[in-house]
Amino acid sequence: MIDPFGRHISYLRVSVTDRCDFRCVYCMAEDMTFLPKAEVLSLEELERLCTAFIRRGVRKLRLTGGEPLVRKNVMSLFRGLGKHLESGALEELTLTTNGSQLAKYAQELADIGVRRVNVSMDTLDSDKFRQLTRWGDLDQVMRGLDAAQRAGLAIKINAVALRGVNDGEFEEMIRWCHGRGMDLVLIEVMPMGEIGDAARLDQYLPLSLARTEIARHFTLTETDYRTGGPARYFKVEETGGRLGFITPLTHNFCESCNRVRLTCTGTLYMCLGQEDAADLRAPLRASESDEVLDRAITEAIARKPKGHDFIIDRRHSGPAVPRHMSVTGG
Ligand code: SAM
Ligand code: SF4
Repeated sequence: MIDPFGRHISYLRVSVTDRCDFRCVYCMAEDMTFLPKAEVLSLEELERLCTAFIRRGVRKLRLTGGEPLVRKNVMSLFRGLGKHLESGALEELTLTTNGSQLAKYAQELADIGVRRVNVSMDTLDSDKFRQLTRWGDLDQVMRGLDAAQRAGLAIKINAVALRGVNDGEFEEMIRWCHGRGMDLVLIEVMPMGEIGDAARLDQYLPLSLARTEIARHFTLTETDYRTGGPARYFKVEETGGRLGFITPLTHNFCESCNRVRLTCTGTLYMCLGQEDAADLRAPLRASESDEVLDRAITEAIARKPKGHDFIIDRRHSGPAVPRHMSVTGG
């Protein structure tokens, strides 16, 4: 699959549910309304859709959400997709998780062929963690990380940089992650979805500032390490570990974008930061053969836009994109 700007689409992210056992303040309102179950694709339908994309050249697949590991029976989907790893059609199957269920599933994921997981964790302070996630328990996530490492999974910790919340903790987080052999990636908060009382402008911390602050404690050497995602990685000389930055707002990374995103209702978003989307549920359900579906995928890829236009400033106080991150899965 090649889009109109010559970019090869080889990476699919799939939000397998919009539901979650946390309510992170930058991601969801506390009283979120979730999709009616009838609108959500079955696990079998999700597998068929993913398989169609793999046949069309997708080599990396990431399951996300909402919280992917709270979807009932989600391991059957992992197992089904794991078969494409065995056949060599798929290079990588991975997930982004809040870690709450990892203690339960880490070994099974490793057995299926998952090699890396991204775990989102914005702070090492239990009280702050509770405030940020509203419902989360840091100890439970820590047990999940232990289980994942015991199972041999490589871990990348994702932390959203939040002004006045975790900006004093970056040094400690770098030492902690690297001490355990985990990468750390800092993410700029993106203006997505109505989230209630937490004002976006107050949360936003440009990572250029975070980097300057971090550079007071550590020597950062630029590297060309890539994981197929938009993060730029530095080596932290003092720890020997890797530190990544994802900066959608201060640095536009669209020119190398190789991905599309599928929601749990079968809607394909060709860009995280744009509203245009293609419905794949109707073509999926239209017939048992994949012909109609394939045509719909081709048409969608032909519409992939050149880039996004996120912006956070005082003239734009509402979200740039009205849907929540939990819909398209980050
Ligand atoms: N529940 C899983 C988790 O938290 O890892 C997967 C889904 S979550 C939507 C994926 C990632 O998006 C998380 O790392 C989360 O921190 C990030 N995220 C959510 N809302 C965001 C926002 N408004 N700006 C930037 N990142 C956001
Ligand atoms: Fe749930 Fe992940 Fe959103 Fe937090 S960031 S509310 S864990 S989907």
